[in-house]
This record gives sequence, structure tokens and C-alpha cells, in this order.
Amino acid sequence: MNNRFHTPTFMVKAALSGSLSILTLGGIFLWLSNSTPIEEGTEKAKADSVQATTEIVAILKTDLMTSEYIAVGAVPTEIASEFLTPSDIEKLVTVSSGDTLMSLLVTAGATRSEAHGAITALADVYSPRKIKPGLDIALTFSPPVAPLTIKEIEKPRDVGPLRAMQFQPSVERIVKVSTTEDNANQYIAEEIHRPLTMKMARSTNEITSSLYLAATNASVPNDIMIKMIRAYSFDVDFQREIQKGDRFELVYEAYYDENNNLAKTGQMIYGNLTLSGDDLQLYRYTPSSGFTDYFNGKGQSAKKALMRTPVDGARLSSRFGKRKHPVLGYNKVHKGVDFAAPRGTPIYAAGDGVIVRANRFSSFGNYVKIRHHSGYETAYAHLKGFAKGMKKSKRVRQGQVIGYIGTTGRSTGPHLHYEVLFNGRQVNPLGVKLPAGEKLKSADLKKFKIEKQKIDRMINELKKPAALAGLQLN
Ligand SMILES: [Zn+2]
Repeated sequence: MNNRFHTPTFMVKAALSGSLSILTLGGIFLWLSNSTPIEEGTEKAKADSVQATTEIVAILKTDLMTSEYIAVGAVPTEIASEFLTPSDIEKLVTVSSGDTLMSLLVTAGATRSEAHGAITALADVYSPRKIKPGLDIALTFSPPVAPLTIKEIEKPRDVGPLRAMQFQPSVERIVKVSTTEDNANQYIAEEIHRPLTMKMARSTNEITSSLYLAATNASVPNDIMIKMIRAYSFDVDFQREIQKGDRFELVYEAYYDENNNLAKTGQMIYGNLTLSGDDLQLYRYTPSSGFTDYFNGKGQSAKKALMRTPVDGARLSSRFGKRKHPVLGYNKVHKGVDFAAPRGTPIYAAGDGVIVRANRFSSFGNYVKIRHHSGYETAYAHLKGFAKGMKKSKRVRQGQVIGYIGTTGRSTGPHLHYEVLFNGRQVNPLGVKLPAGEKLKSADLKKFKIEKQKIDRMINELKKPAALAGLQLN
């Protein structure tokens, strides 16, 4: 059996590289780099870290946030090996943007007629149009044969006829096209379903330098880490609140293939961040409203009525308070926070509410103001443009795109100037105590308590050494 592809059968589409130093989510900065360990809470250390933040551009690719997997290096070849011979030539090709399957196969050594036969067969089980850049395709060719025709002499190839083509469009699915045993010119396609087994996984670790590093050292898959950051982003300022000696704990769904390799992850079921001795527990639960969310032990939603940062992938470029104005040059109180991001980056409504203004507004350029409940308003300035349908009296939901990053009005470059107002006065969006989100009531609360007990019992089971041993042996 060919063992070549039995390494973990997936990877996150956009791998987090060492150069990507911060992850921003919901306005929270998380140090991904271990180059700046948290020091003993000195003012200098804090000042340094703030300084460094503005230097480093944090871009979290949207595709990373969707937790979408693609199969890379995950093309099991043993299935094809039943009729293939050891002298067959295997090639692994990766689809690049602009490639067609035809061009890819021909470049790898197939003749146009072989490629056409294989693609036609493939279409029975999988549309060749669905093949996306990044996908790895394993090709098997017969050994080269002596050229027979003039055409073959003129265009010699380093392989013989194409015998098989195999790829994995998702972790559960393998697509294979191969020649039939008795007819080397006839291709047939088949689909192989890989059964995955779901098990609950638990990870915990002490945070010594950064949450990212602690989670990485505990082998927390990247997309579970992202789910954790998202769930906690309304509550925790990852840049400033995480201290040495804090802990995290996570329970999540993990799917394993028949060889017990982690094939993909599902939901984060439970999280606990122990910050300076306080436990922040979150339980995943779907109330009767149908909107799944994370709730603390008392049934309070982790979400807040307002987001601290209404734009993804931004870096904080200017804080609230006194500063030298970059255009006017003199000291002025900055009544909002600025987030730098590429022109055209979507801006979200920070909370549910009604638009009270969406037009040009002097030095603010293109400007949106939203009225929320409990005396809160949010304002967004220097927009490149407004999202479709954004106008006065329009009702918006939290997270809905209202406009795009630009540099209209008095502005030095593409950024969002964001203000939170309480009873008509600007407050610091990063410091303000935000109004709470949904609190579960009556029947929902009752059901949640039962679900919470179940999760708590499961965690206790997972904590037992036997459970851990069982997980490893299975
Ligand atoms: Zn500003």
C-alpha cells in the first residue's frame, strides 16, 4: 500500500504563516507572533505593544474565516493500485488559476485524446468546471513506450498513456477516473465516499506568551481557534487582557478518517478562558429563535449589542483621545477610533438599528449614522461609498454591510473613522461598556440549562485519563 498521502489529509486554505503577525476579529487584536511575548504588565510593555500594532498590517483573509477546507496532498493512491504496476509513473499536479483540466493534463504528458477521454468520463461524477485553483490531482501514467507514429517521434513524451486521475474535492469524497482493465482507451469515473467518525476533542493549555501560541502548542486546529476568537471577541481584548498564567479550554467536534487522521473539524461546543482567575465560559446553544450562539453559564449571549470594530481585517491606526491631527497639525481630541484597511473593504453595521443619516457630511466625507436601542448611536466616516439601499430610515442588522472603506472628506488615506455615541456624546468604542445581547428566558433558559449540564458532563468524561487514552487508541 502506498503510504505517500497518509499525512494529515487537509490543511486550511490560507495557512497562517509566521509573517502574519496579528489576527484581528471584531476589533480585537490577537498576537499570532511569538516574537512579542507578554511581559509583566508594565506600562512600557503596553506602550511597546501598542506601538508595534500600528506597524504591522493584519489581514485576515475572508476565506480563512469561512473555515473552508480544500483537500491538499490528500489523494490516496492505494485505491488505484489494484491494477496499476510498480513501473507506472505518478505525478502530482496542482491546479493554478487560469488552468483548464485539459491544459493541465496535456502539460503533465497526456495526449489530447487521453485527456479528452478522462475529462468526459469525469463529467459523469464531477463537473470539471468545479475544479478550483489549489486542488491537487494525482495522475498515473504507464511507463513510456517507444514512439510509433511520426507524430510521436516529433513530439516524444516522458510518460506512457494516462491510466488514472484522482483528487479529493472534499475531505469526505474521492473522485477517481481510470482506464478499464481490459481497455486501455476506455475511461470510467467513480466516486468514493470516505466515512468520517466524529469525536469530541478537548484542548487546554496555559498561556505563557500568546493565546495563539498556547493553542498551537496544544494542537488546536486553526479554524477552531478562529471560532474561539470570534466567540470571545465581544468580551475580551486579546491584545491587552491576556496575561501570563491565563488558561484556555476548548471542546470541539473533530472528524477522523479510517486511519484516525483528523480530517476536519466541526463546531466549537464549549470554551473557557480563565483570565486573571476569572472563568469566562461559553456554551454553544440554539434557542427557539433558531440563531445558534454562545451563551455563558447563566444563559447570557456572548454577543454584545454593538461591535467594537465594524470592519474585518483592519488595523487600529488611531485611538480615541487627544492627538496631533494628521491633516490640521494641531492637537485635537479624536472622538472616535480609526481603522486602516484597503479601499473597498466592507464596513458592517455595529448593531441592529435604524439609519439616521447616509450622505456626504462635510469633513467626514461619505458618512453613515445608525441609531441603536438604549441611547446608543454609531457613526462611520470617510466611506468610499454606501452599500445598496442604505438611506435614512432603513433598518439594518448587526454585521450587515453598510458601506466601504474609502478616504472621502478630510482624510489622509483609506480608513474608517468610527464613533460610538451614548446619549449624544462620543465615547471610546474600545473602552465603553457595551449593552448586552440576548438573554435566554423561560422555556429557552430551561432547555439551555439541560444542554449545559450535558456539555458539563461530557467535559468531565473527556477530562478522565481513560477517555484520553481511548481517543488515542481508537
Ligand atoms: Zn478618525
